[in-house]
Amino acid sequence: MNVKFVDLESTHAEVEERLLERVTQSISENVFIGGCEVEQFEERWAKFCGVDHAIGVANGTDALVLGLRALGIGVGDEVIVPANTFIATAEAVALAGASPRFVDVDDATLLTDASLVEAAITSRTAAVIVVHLYGQVCDMAAMSAVAQRHGIALIEDACQAHGAAWSGRKAGSFGDFAAFSFYPGKNLGALGDGGAVVTGDKQLADRIRSLGNHGRGAPMGMNLVATNSRLDGLQAAALNVKLDHLDRWNAQRRVIAARYTDELQGAMGIRVTDQRAESHSVHHLFVVRVRSRDKVREKLATAGIQTGVHYDIACHLHPAFEQYASDGSLPVSEQAAEQVLSLPMHPHLSTSEVIAVSTAVRDIVSAYSGDDGDEH
Ligand SMILES: *Cc1c(COP(=O)(O)O)cnc(C)c1O
Repeated sequence: MNVKFVDLESTHAEVEERLLERVTQSISENVFIGGCEVEQFEERWAKFCGVDHAIGVANGTDALVLGLRALGIGVGDEVIVPANTFIATAEAVALAGASPRFVDVDDATLLTDASLVEAAITSRTAAVIVVHLYGQVCDMAAMSAVAQRHGIALIEDACQAHGAAWSGRKAGSFGDFAAFSFYPGKNLGALGDGGAVVTGDKQLADRIRSLGNHGRGAPMGMNLVATNSRLDGLQAAALNVKLDHLDRWNAQRRVIAARYTDELQGAMGIRVTDQRAESHSVHHLFVVRVRSRDKVREKLATAGIQTGVHYDIACHLHPAFEQYASDGSLPVSEQAAEQVLSLPMHPHLSTSEVIAVSTAVRDIVSAYSGDDGDEH
């Protein structure tokens, strides 16, 4: 057996001709920074997310940093961040000059939890970044209410949630702004790094665009040091081609996730991450929790099944973030770091592969079910 975790070859095989056409055209037209591919993509991405403005930037981390800075968040401010996320969420807060304050996540979904966020708000809190992790959208009704009640900014890290929705409304359309990454392995991936900020606020959009382009076109009164963070023309060309297929690829991921759930829900020693009824997930990752995770992973690798771990350290325990506050231990995030296992997930995974992976996971986990979960 040889089951890949992500299969970009199959994805690109579907669009190769169009990709080469658009890239060749961009080269012949000499549009590398800005230009019609970037403009077209920004317009289409805003529309796709159901917002008025999208600004292409260099990557998802920059999307968060630029948005935070454009909101005026920086030194002296605290930004609430879930401990169970990709480290980039926290990096962005620190890079903007603010302090991340880590909170635990909901045990069933492993997502940012509105009541835990509310409990962590202090007089220094300027914003919360909710993370639509694994492709599932957080409870945005509850989250919007908390942000409004306390007058703090609501930011969405939608870097794993391209096309996901909560009660029919798209991820990225709830917050003051949202950040997307087009890292190649994301549901919508470029041929290198790329990212976007989306927002309904024209003034904020203008500030972000200027901040990522050396201050060009700075709105009146903007006195921030800008930087260079732009989406390349060639990357925008690739994204324009791939965006035509995103809904179909997401639908394929949904079928695969449903099959995994059928196969694994209730199996001994395996905890499938819960899905909320209101959440229309795009299943960037299919995450289960198992004990003896590293041993299970090794056995799966030996059987020819690639897996991932997202993520093996809770952010508040990361050496780079020791200096920042969290309210003591964050047990759900800490246990998740030890137990999460991401199974192969990409639009081109076949049903027989899903069944074979599920069977292998069930067999291997049940062989360890007597274990105490220690990793030796
Ligand atoms: C990928 C990702 C990012 C950062 O995106 P880059 O494009 O790699 O900078 C941020 N947050 C989450 C949750 C991500 O998955």
